[in-house]
Amino acid sequence: LKGSWWKLREKVEPEIRPLCKTRCHNGGNTDAEIANIILSYVLRCPRCNAEVLYAGDGSWDQMKRGEKFKKIRCPNGKGEFTKAQADFVRVEPIEIRVDCKACKVKGEAKAKSLDEEDWELYISIEGGPTKVIHEGEDEWSEYKFEPVERFLDDLGTKVYQKMLQHWSVDYIPPKEVPYWYPKDVKFPKGYNTRQPLKRGITYSYQMFSHRNLIALSILWHYIKGIEDEKLRDKMRFAFTGMLFYVSLMRRWVYSNVAGVPLKGTLFIASVIQDVNTLEIFDFKINQVLRGLRELLTFKGNGSVFFAKVISNKP
Ligand SMILES: [Zn+2]
Ligand SMILES: [Zn+2]
Repeated sequence: LKGSWWKLREKVEPEIRPLCKTRCHNGGNTDAEIANIILSYVLRCPRCNAEVLYAGDGSWDQMKRGEKFKKIRCPNGKGEFTKAQADFVRVEPIEIRVDCKACKVKGEAKAKSLDEEDWELYISIEGGPTKVIHEGEDEWSEYKFEPVERFLDDLGTKVYQKMLQHWSVDYIPPKEVPYWYPKDVKFPKGYNTRQPLKRGITYSYQMFSHRNLIALSILWHYIKGIEDEKLRDKMRFAFTGMLFYVSLMRRWVYSNVAGVPLKGTLFIASVIQDVNTLEIFDFKINQVLRGLRELLTFKGNGSVFFAKVISNKP
């Protein structure tokens, strides 16, 4: 299995790695990799309607020190509000964790603010900034993602405007997904799907960042192409076992690098760790090799996973 994973890796890497490229801030290696991107909710202030970064205004540094905060401050000085009182707008990247083979930077030193190139890559994959609009008559339908002019981040906005000018367009959509993915698996109505719905998530594939959706489609494409049936099944097995961990349900949690998704829910936290699919797959393959029992509870048929993930948790 390990040998065939390396063979598979050789095929998928050239397609997936460009999605995760960054420059190491700790020595300048231009061929470093994004271990994860920290994404924060952007909320709408219920008092003045302005957009507010949940982990903005020093809150992110506070969170990294392990301090908790309950209230979010209105950017226009109109008091404070709680998360529950505010509408969701979108997520925005606030930090990158870098994996660098050259300097092997570790711990908190892996943290890097997004530079211009990081923003450009992020926008070219995830698309320009949007806001969620709800037009349906009930809470289960008709969410739209309407483009807006700017990110809350000034550098992000500057890079985005440059890109718009360069391409002479007024919006940059998310990058096309190169291979098959389950486009039409809708969330059922249910208690657990309420929370994602508020974020405009009505399809199961939206539980992934676009970057990881693309990476998954590439990986799945090459797994399907494996001729040996047994081997293919094992790969599917590892693929399925990985899905929860590479979804937007991967929370950022203080003092716990894992931030494993809450079991039995579809909960998306306000600060997300958008991880590197290839690295997680490496990890899962190793788990399969070690024959971990918990994995055996998965059926391993990744082709229906998006449906499965959802239908198991109505
Ligand atoms: Zn306000
Ligand atoms: Zn480095």
